[in-house]
Amino acid sequence: MKLNNTCVKCQSSNLRKVSGNFPLSDKNNILKITAFKNIYITSYVCVECGFMEEWIEKPADLEYLAKKADETDDFSNFV
Ligand SMILES: [Zn+2]
Repeated sequence: MKLNNTCVKCQSSNLRKVSGNFPLSDKNNILKITAFKNIYITSYVCVECGFMEEWIEKPADLEYLAKKADETDDFSNFV
């Protein structure tokens, strides 16, 4: 949806983008990582059928998650 501007469910092009910092949105659009780190999630909503896709759009946030993913791999050695 984000990439081709077409709903993957109903093929409508009647889409809306809702940013994570959209004034009417609430905490649901924020991925809480730590007490000091929020990652904003942008939603793409098809206003024809209601299907919704969520994307993390800031490259810095993706890098942050990539580093966190490496850290959790350490738990695979935990016995
Ligand atoms: Zn749709």
